[in-house]
Amino acid sequence: MKKQLLIIGGGFAGFWSALSAIRQSRELQKGDELEVTVVNMDEYLTIRPRLYEVSLKGLRVGLNKYFKPLGIKFIIGKAEIINPDQNLVMVLTDSGSRILNYDYLILSSGSVLKALNIPGIENTFNVDTFNGAQKLEDHLTQLAGKNFVDSASTFVVAGSGLTGLEVATVIKEKAMKIWGENAQKEIDFKVVLIEKAEKVGNYYATEAQDYVIETLKSKDISIATGVSLTAVSADGATLSDGTFIPSKTVISTIGLVASSLCHFFKGEKDKLGRLHVNKYLQLEEYENVIAAGDVANIPVDNEGNNSLMACQFSMFLGKWAGHNAVNWLFSQPLKPYNYTDYVTCVDLGQQDGMLTTGWERKLVSSGIEGKNIKMEVTTKLIYPADDVEAALEDSYPEVPNVSQNAV
Ligand SMILES: Cc1cc2nc3c(=O)[nH]c(=O)nc-3n(C[C@H](O)[C@H](O)[C@H](O)COP(=O)(O)OP(=O)(O)OC[C@H]3O[C@@H](n4cnc5c(N)ncnc54)[C@H](O)[C@@H]3O)c2cc1C
Repeated sequence: MKKQLLIIGGGFAGFWSALSAIRQSRELQKGDELEVTVVNMDEYLTIRPRLYEVSLKGLRVGLNKYFKPLGIKFIIGKAEIINPDQNLVMVLTDSGSRILNYDYLILSSGSVLKALNIPGIENTFNVDTFNGAQKLEDHLTQLAGKNFVDSASTFVVAGSGLTGLEVATVIKEKAMKIWGENAQKEIDFKVVLIEKAEKVGNYYATEAQDYVIETLKSKDISIATGVSLTAVSADGATLSDGTFIPSKTVISTIGLVASSLCHFFKGEKDKLGRLHVNKYLQLEEYENVIAAGDVANIPVDNEGNNSLMACQFSMFLGKWAGHNAVNWLFSQPLKPYNYTDYVTCVDLGQQDGMLTTGWERKLVSSGIEGKNIKMEVTTKLIYPADDVEAALEDSYPEVPNVSQNAV
């Protein structure tokens, strides 16, 4: 009977876990003693970091293109219940529910946009999932059909984290492109960025923060700090200071929390709901469970820094996860996680972007140079190589970057 490795989630962490597991099982010459199964809610690796962009084309990579030739079993469905004491997962699929057994489980179900507990939350839009981004695009297309009249030309963006900055600086361009298809005249779009903190971008070093604020100003984006959303209707947003902003499009980017599947496991969670893992990515209470990607919190250096919800961590954690799961199953030594670099890239709209390095997030590149670096990373480096065997080669934990693969 083959050993069963079950992976929940086919995002960056789950995808690389699966490839790394296949590669490592081949290396140990155990390929025919292992079955790798991935459960994902749809058939795609969604390139979430690009969901704010003007166009949604090329933002999903078909998983079966890789899974089929590598013999990875793929189930489209939603894992609903995990019983880690009995090594069982209940999955809901279009044809009913299924119970899956595992010898080893990799949990890589990612993260979701934080829920805002305010009246009218259902009126907000998001760029958290492909469907969310598509819904926003369809909505803008409808508004364009009615010429973006009155408050339809105002966009409210809640949250000025990396995604909020990207949405705020790109949304006019996106609306303009949609409008452009039937446009006779320019529209004076307005963007209001709402931030609970007293200053936008206070997680950046001073020079980087100054560049962000200057850029927002130069793009005529209004900034409201020290306030939060308290209600949203189809006609606008109400803020905590009582201000009402008439708008048909309120977009929430208030941050991510870990997948609720983390709650099936004993043990303390961090403030984002993530599971703490040891240096091999295992859960302390369950030796045969690894958490990887946005569900995992792992110390990454001796200075108190921990992994973040970001692709650079998810991809590496995935590669380590697959490797260690297979080695554990075949009684081989596990590899301690060892990746300490940290950079951030942000798109700030036409001609503008920024690269920061280190945990202090110091400004390294800005303007068009920063933008080009950001696009190089998100349109090439975070995609798997087109060639399946080349992608497999990239699944070694030590490989610094996946292959260049422009879309
Ligand atoms: C708009 C946006 C911009 C971002 N920008 C950046 C950026 O610039 N740089 C950066 O490094 N990071 C960025 N991130 C974060 C980055 O996208 C995540 O860190 C990364 O996607 C996490 O990878 P993951 O595999 O852990 O989870 P995900 O990519 O979330 O994948 C999880 C997968 O699991 C599936 N799943 C979830 N629950 C279940 C279930 N119950 N059953 C079956 N399948 C399930 C989901 O459908 C999904 O396919 C951004 C995120 C967003 C939303």
